[in-house]
Amino acid sequence: VLNIGVLAVQGSVVEHVNMLKKIDGVKPIEVKIPEQLYHIDGLILPGGESTAIGKLIEDYGLNNIIVERAKKGMPIWGTCAGMILMAKKITGQNKTYLNLMDIVVKRNAYGSQLDSFATHEVIPAVSDKPLKMVFIRAPYVEDIADTVEILAKVDGHIVAVKQDNLIATSFHPELTDDTSFHRYFIKIVRESIN
Ligand code: GLN
Repeated sequence: VLNIGVLAVQGSVVEHVNMLKKIDGVKPIEVKIPEQLYHIDGLILPGGESTAIGKLIEDYGLNNIIVERAKKGMPIWGTCAGMILMAKKITGQNKTYLNLMDIVVKRNAYGSQLDSFATHEVIPAVSDKPLKMVFIRAPYVEDIADTVEILAKVDGHIVAVKQDNLIATSFHPELTDDTSFHRYFIKIVRESIN
């Protein structure tokens, strides 16, 4: 069985846990303390408020161990606020968090008029069927290093990326009833331990 952590300090934790429960051979673990990070095979950083999650992971001493596990190859997937935590650069601010991915991320990139919206797009790496993408005060990726692979764009903006064992999405697959993005992540976790 694969132990998949969901960082559980703030944000859409239960939604990710419920998606993982639908996948055979996967045990979801709500990660709250540093020790738990040594007993998981992959980690999801949920959506929420990046400033809050970012502060809490520093306060609880989770951040350094997440970085250590990432550098040793553990797959991590950041959704929305999770994408912001992964970025080495956040537009318009000096503060960054985990500094794991060579991406420049713009917070609340769609502005107040498009606070939240949903669309459908095929992500070839994930499925040949269109995936529902839910955006909530979402960031998008403004720039990438050439070591970063683009998984999906919406209206010309990069909304899903992969760099080695690390994935980030602007949208929230956990707020739909389609498990295909979670299954894609689990496949990457499985490959990482084989
Ligand atoms: N706007 C939030 C932030 O900047 C992200 C929103 C989300 O995770 N749904 O952290």
